[in-house]
Amino acid sequence: MWFIKDGAGIACVVLTYLIMTGVSSLVIKVAILQLDEEEYINGPICICFYYFFLFLAGFSHLKAMLTDPGSVPLNSAELPKVNEYKDGKPKFYCLRCRCNKPSRCHHCSTCGRCIMKMDHHCPWVNNCVGHYNQKHFVLFLLYIELSCIYSFIMLGMRASYCFSHEKAELCLRPRQEVSFDLFIGVLSFFMAGIFGLFVGVMMQDQLTCIINNTSGIDELKKTLVEKRPVKVNLEETFGGPFGILWFIPTSLKRQSNDMVEIELT
Ligand SMILES: [Zn+2]
Ligand SMILES: [Zn+2]
Repeated sequence: MWFIKDGAGIACVVLTYLIMTGVSSLVIKVAILQLDEEEYINGPICICFYYFFLFLAGFSHLKAMLTDPGSVPLNSAELPKVNEYKDGKPKFYCLRCRCNKPSRCHHCSTCGRCIMKMDHHCPWVNNCVGHYNQKHFVLFLLYIELSCIYSFIMLGMRASYCFSHEKAELCLRPRQEVSFDLFIGVLSFFMAGIFGLFVGVMMQDQLTCIINNTSGIDELKKTLVEKRPVKVNLEETFGGPFGILWFIPTSLKRQSNDMVEIELT
């Protein structure tokens, strides 16, 4: 099984799950259950929806973390000939992995491997985002974004309920002190909004790269990439023609000859 043994990455993953479970428990406690008690919404149905998004976010995260992002086999090629060096370094060969590097393949020092179509190394999924797990990473962002929007709506509904004149006393402690739950609710409301915006920007960045057949590293290195129809780029990343599987983190088929298919340039 593919798993990167990196202490900082593992700590970030634990933190990710703590945030996901902590925030969701708070939203359920201070917003959904309260609104249900006040017969404003159907609590069990709303909680099921919430857990559905969180389950898909967690599942996508696990797939992004445990999927080989497109590592090139180690010790798979002989040292290059003298004329294949540029500025003292081999042009298409990784001295650390002792393999030929297809175009748009980069060595990740954290993973210790050359990764096909590497976008970036993400500590939050403790893995590189590359050719075979970009779909899972994008789905993780999508379901976290939906969870944030959902939390934002639920907390907003709770806040508007509390601040409406005739029902305000239901949400406030005696002597009009603001309750701890209300404080947590308002704080979570703003956190959900800010975090939702941040994840939305990351998702937009990923989708722009996929649509343009490029990656974070390609953009940094200003690599010239092949212009292809958007449909082809999306199908390559999401593993086939548009359908329900685009929204479920199913594995992409790894071709035994994909190292050959990517031309050395
Ligand atoms: Zn390498
Ligand atoms: Zn990496």
